[in-house]
Amino acid sequence: MTKPQISVETVQQMDKQDPLHAFRNEFHLKSDHYYMDGNSLGLLSKRAEQSLLTSLEDWKDYGIEGWTDGREPWFYMAEKLGAMTAPLLGAEAEEVINTGSITTNLHQLLATFYKPKGSRTKIIADELNFPSDIYALKSQLELHNLDPEEHLVRVKSRDGRTLAEDDIIEAMDETTALLLLPSVLYRSGQLLDVKRIVKAAHDKGIIAGFDLAHSIGALPHQLDEWQVDFAVWCTYKYLNSGPGGVGGLYVNKRHFGTSPGLAGWFSSNKQKQFDMDHHLSAADDAGAYQIGTPHILSSAPLLGSLELFHEAGIHKIRQKSLQLTRLMMDLLHQELDGFGFELATPIEDERRGGHISLVHPEAARICKALKAASITPDYRAPNVIRLAPIALYTSHEDVYEVMQILKEIIQEEKHKQYSNERGIIA
Ligand SMILES: *Cc1c(COP(=O)(O)O)cnc(C)c1O
Repeated sequence: MTKPQISVETVQQMDKQDPLHAFRNEFHLKSDHYYMDGNSLGLLSKRAEQSLLTSLEDWKDYGIEGWTDGREPWFYMAEKLGAMTAPLLGAEAEEVINTGSITTNLHQLLATFYKPKGSRTKIIADELNFPSDIYALKSQLELHNLDPEEHLVRVKSRDGRTLAEDDIIEAMDETTALLLLPSVLYRSGQLLDVKRIVKAAHDKGIIAGFDLAHSIGALPHQLDEWQVDFAVWCTYKYLNSGPGGVGGLYVNKRHFGTSPGLAGWFSSNKQKQFDMDHHLSAADDAGAYQIGTPHILSSAPLLGSLELFHEAGIHKIRQKSLQLTRLMMDLLHQELDGFGFELATPIEDERRGGHISLVHPEAARICKALKAASITPDYRAPNVIRLAPIALYTSHEDVYEVMQILKEIIQEEKHKQYSNERGIIA
């Protein structure tokens, strides 16, 4: 049986039946523009704008008293954000805190949980990992006088795009101290079986940490049920907190009380912080892994943004996200077969994150042509185009239009007028 043709009427009907369709109105969307890069920097919502303005008003009206007496007291904002984020993670409020960035939080949690002992010294990562994570792992090994060439194990990919859980588990042994993997791979969009990996790691006495940059806000997690040891993420991608928005970290409660590897006064138990004692009394929850004064102005937008996630519900968001990416893949097949695109994203729902990754030898110039045609794509050198339809603000019709425009570019060779090189940020 052949699939029925997808038409503009089909996608308009999908939009009519979409329970999240109205959330578009919560965002600042430009008309006649298709934003497909919410996996790199999410768009501004009116709520996030408002919560940032509230913090500015608090500063205006209260000065230093804003720390405790403002409408959103700054002293407790990181904890409040953690509690609001916890349901997206399948975690308890005390296990989550918003602070730092992915890379600094990773340094903190490696300094806390990577304790090489005897022959158990190695860290498992993967050869497709994001560079910043790898740099952090290498520098932590070097701080222990361990050579990354020997002690950082990077699991190989069989196809250059995805990882096999079997290969990851195969790499684990009694010389492994810790593993750090992405939940969703940033290039291909593959979703790993976190539960299975954690179980195998724990069976071998290995600490399991995850980078949730490409899954938080796109799909639900069960970090407690899976017994993940720690996790880090950013909030400027799917959580729409704005450029440089505050990062987040999760520490499973069985590790509460473990001294922060990198301590600072914001690691303190909040009741005692202003005792100004030279002996740190660390918080007895994830708050202990904060370091210095929180960046309030890059935290405040997240307060408003997270409200939208609660109103929409992460399961509905996941359902729509899968429907949008499925539609995109179906349209790729219907409209763009034979034009040299290869799909790097796994097609199974349970192995796919929130974006679609297309491989094409002329990806750089195709992205330039897309930009000229009012589409914001996401290019990753040397040959990857990532397209992220976002459940809260992308419609099915948007996806349809994007694929029609892409087809027109390729058919009419509009991309040939551009050089096939990347810009400074890609
Ligand atoms: C986006 C991203 C980062 C960025 O780290 P920052 O410290 O927030 O700059 C790191 N790792 C992964 C996997 C990412 O996707």
